[in-house]
Amino acid sequence: MGLEQITARIRAAEAAAGRPEGSVTLIAVSKVQPDERVASALAAGQRVFGENYVQEAQSKWPAFRERFGDVKLHMIGPLQSNKAKAAIGLFDVIHTLDRMSLARKLANASEAGGRVPDLFVQVNTGDEPQKAGILPDELGGFLEQVRALGLTPGGLMCIPPESEDPRRHFRMLRKLAEAEGLRQLSMGMSADFEDAIAEGATHVRVGSAIFGARDYSEKS
Ligand SMILES: *Cc1c(COP(=O)(O)O)cnc(C)c1O
Repeated sequence: MGLEQITARIRAAEAAAGRPEGSVTLIAVSKVQPDERVASALAAGQRVFGENYVQEAQSKWPAFRERFGDVKLHMIGPLQSNKAKAAIGLFDVIHTLDRMSLARKLANASEAGGRVPDLFVQVNTGDEPQKAGILPDELGGFLEQVRALGLTPGGLMCIPPESEDPRRHFRMLRKLAEAEGLRQLSMGMSADFEDAIAEGATHVRVGSAIFGARDYSEKS
């Protein structure tokens, strides 16, 4: 597929939804991809990337940033509390705020004078026991507690259940965000980013449709 085609499809989906051009940010998800594929997206001008693993991101992004200049990095994977400090130093945005213990770590870092990344709260819209995220019913209370710490999340993020129509989940996330006065919606991946844009996504997270399939056997 490739970056250019995905960008064109995003612009077309914005237009089809009657949304302003450029209102959707493409996060190119580079986890587990070979460096040369990532470098060619950088060379083509892409400057917003997503990673799932702190260690992997630490090992590749300082050098890319040196070579290509300012790059915005988004953490889209589950964030362990013992990696929070490293993540704060590396990422501009964290999409996976999903518990108070992590919120406290982030608040402590900000009190210590550190810059705090922009935050999305991950919502478990499918109520799946194995999946991270705040349950929809508990979102209001969670946000209240997070805000009491001085943090101000700007949006919500979800990963719909694999076996269900994602559109219902995107719509649910949008309604939750509206109810909470949040403007940003991180939703939509390679298979469904156009549906997500139709439902109001402001950030889509697209990996394999840009870079090709991930080969997990190469890393380990
Ligand atoms: C890996 C990942 C993506 C990208 O998935 P693709 O299907 O390759 O586009 C998006 N969001 C999250 C949370 C991911 O872990």
